[in-house]
Amino acid sequence: MTPYSNSNLLSMDAYKDCRLCPRQCGANRTVRTGYCGCTDRTRVARAALHMWEEPCISGTFSGGSGAVFFSGCTLGCCFCQNYKISHDRFGKEISVRQLADSFLRLQEEGAYNINLVTATHYLPSVVSALELVKDRLTIPIVYNCGGYERPEIVKALSEYVDIWLPDLKYMDRSLSARYSQASDYFEQASSAIRQMIDQTGAPVLDDRGIMSSGVIIRHLVLPGARQDSIRLLRWMKENLPKGSYYLSLMSQYTPAGAVKEGTILPSQPGQKDSAGRQESAYPELSRRITTYEYESVLNTALELGLDMGYMQKKSSAKEEYTPPFNLEGV
Ligand code: SF4
Repeated sequence: MTPYSNSNLLSMDAYKDCRLCPRQCGANRTVRTGYCGCTDRTRVARAALHMWEEPCISGTFSGGSGAVFFSGCTLGCCFCQNYKISHDRFGKEISVRQLADSFLRLQEEGAYNINLVTATHYLPSVVSALELVKDRLTIPIVYNCGGYERPEIVKALSEYVDIWLPDLKYMDRSLSARYSQASDYFEQASSAIRQMIDQTGAPVLDDRGIMSSGVIIRHLVLPGARQDSIRLLRWMKENLPKGSYYLSLMSQYTPAGAVKEGTILPSQPGQKDSAGRQESAYPELSRRITTYEYESVLNTALELGLDMGYMQKKSSAKEEYTPPFNLEGV
């Protein structure tokens, strides 16, 4: 753990003119919700040991990652595997004190780390909770996010976060605009990831193989988007120093959220099929990826020498990677 200090960007006052994420919508969240749909009252859907992260985060036989899943999201991807909490904002309101206590409880239960899952929109509360328990928390803090972060906020978190676990989802502006309503996604995420790597340096594992500091960049291959995946890998090869991060290449995409058959986004109504069901507004995402799609991306990574990290098997496309959101531990 690194020492703590405070920052104005992350103070409770930041909720009054919210600029915590790149959307910088300026909402006064003490009285209303912002683009992310959240007020300043922290909501959590689950705070429990979690075994489905990368082996250096969750361990392989025991322990687990102390994952705290926050409700709501600043990005809101249409295919989100955690749709129930990210879009529907399922969860329970908790105080800063309760959040701090959940960190300590997870540590007592044997968690290898505290894994903050999609915490950006609640950062002032999260930092306040960390401040409350800084003398008793001895395990690393993991920041598990969609990659859509402000580099200034990443920098302000340098004294709180030991391990960064960002996605790098797309390079193409039209893809990020269509699926995440964020045409600036790559510009923001690539800058934020460079800042993360600058802060932590190369990954460090302890003698159990558990990560104590570093960056793991996750990339989920999407149906029909393998060329964008390949362009992203080339960008990583050319722009990020070799050995300065782990790549986690994922094949586990399953249609979920607004792309599932019969489900549409209210803002993007689809047609009705012959059975009277409404079709997805994203028909191209209504299938799993093919073996060809995944293997062409995986082989490109290997050809580029991006072999430090994790590569899922194609058979990993299972919904069981999504834990039950049932308020466990909240
Ligand atoms: S965290 Fe929410 S309220 Fe704050 S800038 Fe981002 S979308 Fe707007």
